[in-house]
Amino acid sequence: MRRDTEIIHAGYPQVQAGAFLGGPQFSSTYATPGDPAQHAMTYGRFHNPTWAAFEQALAVLEGGDAVVFGSGMAATDAVFGVTLKPGDSVVLPADAYYTVRVVASTWLQSLGVQTRLAPTRGNAQAAALDGARLLVIETPSNPQLDVCDIAQLAQAAKAHNVLVAVDNTTATPYLQRPLALGADFVMASDTKAMSGHSDLLLGHVAACDPAHVTALRTWRTQHGAIPGPMEVWLAHRSLATLPLRLSRQSASAQTLAEFLASRPRVKAVHYPGLPSHPGHDIAKRQMLAFGSVVSFDLVTRESAERFLRALTLVREATSFGSVHSTAERRARWGGDAISEGFIRFSVGCEAIEDLLEDVERALQHA
Ligand code: PLP
Repeated sequence: MRRDTEIIHAGYPQVQAGAFLGGPQFSSTYATPGDPAQHAMTYGRFHNPTWAAFEQALAVLEGGDAVVFGSGMAATDAVFGVTLKPGDSVVLPADAYYTVRVVASTWLQSLGVQTRLAPTRGNAQAAALDGARLLVIETPSNPQLDVCDIAQLAQAAKAHNVLVAVDNTTATPYLQRPLALGADFVMASDTKAMSGHSDLLLGHVAACDPAHVTALRTWRTQHGAIPGPMEVWLAHRSLATLPLRLSRQSASAQTLAEFLASRPRVKAVHYPGLPSHPGHDIAKRQMLAFGSVVSFDLVTRESAERFLRALTLVREATSFGSVHSTAERRARWGGDAISEGFIRFSVGCEAIEDLLEDVERALQHA
């Protein structure tokens, strides 16, 4: 079967009769007479059949076993929790998603885990591996969309006996498969393109080593970082359209990036699909398409605010990957090395002509 076909059917029961995807199962506990070991389901924090079906689908996408969590941050924390102990060092991208860096400089530091920061661009993290326990990669990085070579960094990490975890949120496993490129863990915020409708928070981790998978499940059970069955069911239902959504979004993002690059009021455009992007060749090699997020710099904070206010179709909102286009001035949150006029634009599934008209009109106000 072709990959797009596999994804449409992933995690659905392989039976000729009955529901395609049974509804979410809500149960905090299960009737379990006698020895609990004799029962497949016992308590809602331990397991849930709606999670299990979604995890089967994720396994098809990722090429490894998957564990679903209540959010992307819960997934990242689980990877930290099962790999790091006091005295260890973790190598993070200097341009990683801000909250991941905050967790490292607060929680991990308080546990005695040291953080080393190096940029995504130019595979610069390779120089920081000596004596580290875990390398975290984020490519394309959020929000600057820098790119690094996953296979090359994973190989360098293996040579130093360092575990590799890839935050694959911006790409999703449809566009990029880190486990096949040598990563030990891949984690993602499924709040974004994986579920894609701006309606839920979710995350997952996938891994090939059964010991890692068991450790992640135990972490989820003991720390209670569990998702709600409704969210998981909605995400599973949305997964069938992931190839359709991301193909459309990536094509539109490419058109938008090229359009923006031609506008005099736009100082710089950051999109791995542009041949001028420093990571373009790597992205072309390791990604199926370049994703739904385009970042660009307007001249000042004021011009960025005027641009956002003038948009009528595109809503000003954080997050990305949804069928609805959104944009925001990213520096309003702080924490990233970006200009005051930096815009992160998430391209949705609207007709590209409507998006271009909205952006062109708004740029006249910038
Ligand atoms: N990783 C990346 C790259 C993200 O962009 C985000 C959220 O924006 C997260 C992790 C955290 O995900 P969540 O908000 O689902 O906890």
